[in-house]
Amino acid sequence: MDGWLERLVALESEVEYKTPPRRGEGEFRFQAGSLPVLVSAPHGAAHTRHGRLKEEDDFTAGLARLCGELSGAYVLYAWRKSATDPNYYPDVPYKQALTQIVRRYDIRFVVDLHGCAAYRDFGIALGTMQGQSLPREYRRLILRLLYRHGFRAGGGWLSRVDVDCTFTAGNGSRQETITRFVSQLLGVPAVQVELNSYLRVVRRRPQASERDPFEGDAVMIERTINLLVGLVRAVARYAASDGFERGSPTKL
Ligand SMILES: [Zn+2]
Repeated sequence: MDGWLERLVALESEVEYKTPPRRGEGEFRFQAGSLPVLVSAPHGAAHTRHGRLKEEDDFTAGLARLCGELSGAYVLYAWRKSATDPNYYPDVPYKQALTQIVRRYDIRFVVDLHGCAAYRDFGIALGTMQGQSLPREYRRLILRLLYRHGFRAGGGWLSRVDVDCTFTAGNGSRQETITRFVSQLLGVPAVQVELNSYLRVVRRRPQASERDPFEGDAVMIERTINLLVGLVRAVARYAASDGFERGSPTKL
């Protein structure tokens, strides 16, 4: 196995999808970085919505951490079973931690990573609340970057990008997604990135909620890692150069 994939498996192995935090542990963890971009993985472990356990977006915690190691992004990731759903409920501990990180490290952009099932007819779905979660220059930048890494709206299955169609990051609903919270309440541009299982799950772990054995596409996973690292660097560069002011999320 290639070095990156091995590292991804090692990082993901620290996540316990359905184990509540032990004494002294939190449901989520923070990894420091050096660029003013935060990669968030709120569904890295199983979580609870309306009293029901919802399965983890496996390998999103590992991917977020690997992306942080390779790019310098800060990372916040769920690593134990959560009593809440940070991508749904307002005023949960994950969002309180996220707010502190954004303020303390002057975070200028948030990438919120999620995972969807292998049967989806796209590789990547971007959710920008129909453009409300980020200035359109960022949207153009991200679409250009996707194209450069082989992902585009007209691409075949795993190379196809779905934009604000299947997963919109909460536009039109009352759900307080991370993307909605960050862009509308903290005033920092954000995008939700939903990844097909083939683009993130190296090999499904025995403790995963999904019982069937599954192996993702190694080449596509590496391409996705490259894309995420490129995305962090590009938005950091852009935020530093163009003078987008914080606190003006509606300047579209
Ligand atoms: Zn999710």
